[in-house]
Amino acid sequence: MGPFNNINMTSMSNEEFKKLEKEVLNAYAKYTKFVVPISIKKEKENIYAIRVKCPFCGKIIEYKNCFIKNRANFGFYLTCRNCHMRYFAVSLAQKIAYKYYSLTRQIRDVYKKIRNVLANKKSY
Ligand SMILES: [Zn+2]
Repeated sequence: MGPFNNINMTSMSNEEFKKLEKEVLNAYAKYTKFVVPISIKKEKENIYAIRVKCPFCGKIIEYKNCFIKNRANFGFYLTCRNCHMRYFAVSLAQKIAYKYYSLTRQIRDVYKKIRNVLANKKSY
């Protein structure tokens, strides 16, 4: 989830870098438009037609052929066909997760660490 996988290649300390990372995540959560579709209609396996109201111009547009692997947990960028502004179409779960993005990322990072430790134990 999200575009941030950062490596500290600066002269900042890791603490300063983490703080900056958190600020960027909070800004991303604050200023990106996350929109839950008005309706989702299944066309084929993993292919849906979604109706979305643009958060910029307010026009309701249907987008067909959207690949959604998990209806309860999805997120992808859309560009409005009317005003050409970009926003993020998300499930309700993702909208909540992005609202608390820096916290969600911390939880995810801990989860990944635990998963990696468990995966390494299995290989021995
Ligand atoms: Zn628009």
